[in-house]
Amino acid sequence: MRVYLDMVGCRLNQSELENFARQFRAAGHTLVETPEGADLVVINTCTVTAAADADSRAKARQAFRAGAKQIALTGCWATLHPGAARALPGVTHVIPNAQKDTLVSQLTEQYDLEPLEREPLPGARHRTRAFIKVQDGCDNHCTFCVTRLARGAARSRPIPEVLADVRAALGEGKDAGDSPAAAREVVLSGVHLGSWGQDFSPPLHLRHLIQAILQHTDVPRLRLSSLEPWDLDEGFFRLWENRRLCRHLHLPLQSGCAETLRRMARKTTPQGFARLVEAARSLIPGVAITTDIIVGFPGEDENEFAQSLAFIERMAFAGGHVFPFSPRPGTAAARLSGQVPVSIRKRRGEQVRNVLAASARAFRKQFLGQKVEVLWEAAENAFPQGWLMSGLSDNYLRVKAFSSQPLINQIHQVHLTTLLSKDLLGELYPEV
Ligand code: SF4
Repeated sequence: MRVYLDMVGCRLNQSELENFARQFRAAGHTLVETPEGADLVVINTCTVTAAADADSRAKARQAFRAGAKQIALTGCWATLHPGAARALPGVTHVIPNAQKDTLVSQLTEQYDLEPLEREPLPGARHRTRAFIKVQDGCDNHCTFCVTRLARGAARSRPIPEVLADVRAALGEGKDAGDSPAAAREVVLSGVHLGSWGQDFSPPLHLRHLIQAILQHTDVPRLRLSSLEPWDLDEGFFRLWENRRLCRHLHLPLQSGCAETLRRMARKTTPQGFARLVEAARSLIPGVAITTDIIVGFPGEDENEFAQSLAFIERMAFAGGHVFPFSPRPGTAAARLSGQVPVSIRKRRGEQVRNVLAASARAFRKQFLGQKVEVLWEAAENAFPQGWLMSGLSDNYLRVKAFSSQPLINQIHQVHLTTLLSKDLLGELYPEV
């Protein structure tokens, strides 16, 4: 069967899609690059904003127009709106989040194929980087969040299972460096990654999982996806003494105003967040700290927004995502008084984006003249200087450099020479 996989949304959806990819391939099916002529299209949907809802529906319609024979929808939007999902043209299956673990077997049991290849090929969708889901669900009650409604209670995957996934992603048993399917970087993801292990008896902490992965696998780079700031402490940052852990922390702040945070039911304050950032920066030199911000949350008046903007500026983030508040049905925030007009949400979004763009540029600038290690993800060959390579440093700098040959999925040192509008240009060291 020819299977096309697509998604909207977060890194967790990405890691689930990679898991589906492994399972489909292990069951002898072929993954294709476009929905045209696919026997089956699987779309992992998202409902974090109204725009994510619309994107999810649009992807299903595109698959139908492309002639997909069957369309299966899963993920948060399909889970919360199964009736609307089923009503979309061409949709043959709606599989809620709670049944994702059996999605591939549900969709393939009608196909009596002799498997061509039983060996899983993790990371095959995106070779450089494998997203591995280690946790799902959330027990917090952030008032704007629809994700926790769609994903249920927090639960963690045991260490041996995660280790097996990491080893598979690294192409264990082969020479991982030479295997085209071997990822060089593993990203741990979860809805509430920082709560990993708290549902075990006795409970564990995320640091135990990280220590186990660093100790028992040869993963060249280990990156963490989003971490809620209240799950962390100074001791956690000492893990970064191991340089295989990428110096990148994505800490969603959501607002820099204490009152707004209280209405959001976030378990942090601007003061607590600032202390955490200070500790991270002193223990992890060169760390990139990125964030998410919601603007125009109900009741956010000009005074609260000014406090938030000033705090965001003070934090000097290395980048971030800005979301104008989107009232999601079923959440407490959708019922709060003091809804902010859309035009004001948009204007505030622009202001925060400008502040983040300036601090991101300042962050990049401090690395000019230095050498960083870059994992190459893409190469273009239309230049007289040769191949233009593009990749990420461990601390989330987007770096470009010319090379005489394509170097995808390899890690090289680069001497950074030029600040570009959104990235840095450098020279390979030594030249390749
Ligand atoms: S911690 Fe994250 S997933 Fe959990 S309720 Fe808050 S925003 Fe939602």
